[in-house]
Amino acid sequence: MNFDFYLPTHVISGTGCVRNGGAVFSSLGRKCLIVTGKNSAKACGALDDCTAVLDEQGIAYQVFDGIGQNPLLSSCETAGQVAREFGAEFLIGIGGGSPLDATKAIAFFACNDLHGTDIYGDLPKNALPMVLIGTTAGTGSEVTPYSVLTIDETGRKRSFRDKHGLSYASYVFSDPNYTASLSYDFTVSTALDALCHAIEGYFASTATDISDLFATRGIAVIVKALESIKGKADGAEITMRERELLLYGSLYAGVTINTTGTGFCHPLGYFLTEEYQVPHGQACAIFLRGYLDEAKEHLCEKYAALFSTLGYGDSTVSTLIGELLNVKLPSLTEEQLREVAQRSAPTANFLHSPGVFTEEKAFELLKKVFQA
Ligand code: NAP
Ligand code: FE
Repeated sequence: MNFDFYLPTHVISGTGCVRNGGAVFSSLGRKCLIVTGKNSAKACGALDDCTAVLDEQGIAYQVFDGIGQNPLLSSCETAGQVAREFGAEFLIGIGGGSPLDATKAIAFFACNDLHGTDIYGDLPKNALPMVLIGTTAGTGSEVTPYSVLTIDETGRKRSFRDKHGLSYASYVFSDPNYTASLSYDFTVSTALDALCHAIEGYFASTATDISDLFATRGIAVIVKALESIKGKADGAEITMRERELLLYGSLYAGVTINTTGTGFCHPLGYFLTEEYQVPHGQACAIFLRGYLDEAKEHLCEKYAALFSTLGYGDSTVSTLIGELLNVKLPSLTEEQLREVAQRSAPTANFLHSPGVFTEEKAFELLKKVFQA
């Protein structure tokens, strides 16, 4: 027995859970700021459900819909000012990982004199409580304290988490119906992100028996759902049962990385999103076969145990990833690949990946992937 498990978020799931959640919203205050991207919160019905329940409870709200993909730090600071001027007592984040991650930073900007990259320093013990409502099945941001933001000046992604636990949501509403409006491509990409979380977490040196339970279940349901949806013509053909499996899989994977953190696929994937606009899940999944190879070499018993539990071989997962990857890789010189390896290497993600990943190993993997 050797674990330390902390997840202070109340997760409520199922069809209609937001509309039935009046008492939760009321318990948090009389004024709130709703944080969303441009369209998805409206398109999926979550914003309407929220405003209906807030109206019913007599809670005043304002909507800030200025969060883009890979959210900018400056948008979070602006939204923080809006929340402060409005006198918001709590925040509701609705969207994929981008609005949810942004909400975590806004919670701090709203009630402290913080600017820009101050969010990466020692944070004050003061943040607005948050309700998070996911509309993609991927990041698991609802159940983690992590927030990945893009620094305006450099265009680079960097994450923060509050060591006092204030970047966790107080409540999460997870309704698979909100993912129904997601396109086929985003459904696949976000599911690949979740699969990366579960696999990276399972083989991380930070894994525990509890995180392994969530990782194993997460991998099983995500692989099952991806096998079933692959090749569908568009998002409308994906059934609600498949959507449910993907959403629960992403939550299980999120609970996994809440304990373990992610492995090297994540920092290696960031440059593809920052510079080539590759969606986050696809960008990380490009390195997943390489991660499995490291796990097979350095953690062979745990590797065999996973596939024995799953009831199929690793080729099922490798083939599936190959079928779903959909990225036109840029052609990069060895010098450029060396630079990517250098800038990705000094992260905890490398240190707790199987066998301890190094800059040199990253360079070799990048060459294998980009010069294949
Ligand atoms: P996203 O960036 O939040 O959204 C991607 C696109 O999908 C946007 O155009 C969005 O529209 C649209 N969309 C979202 N939900 C939709 C729906 N139900 N119907 C129709 N369109 C919908 O995607 P994501 O993959 O969920 O999040 C990626 C971000 O999360 C990255 O910044 C990544 O680094 C971060 N991340 C965080 C964690 C963590 O633990 N915190 C883990 C992994 C990744 P709108 O712009 O209109 O909203
Ligand atoms: Fe991710």
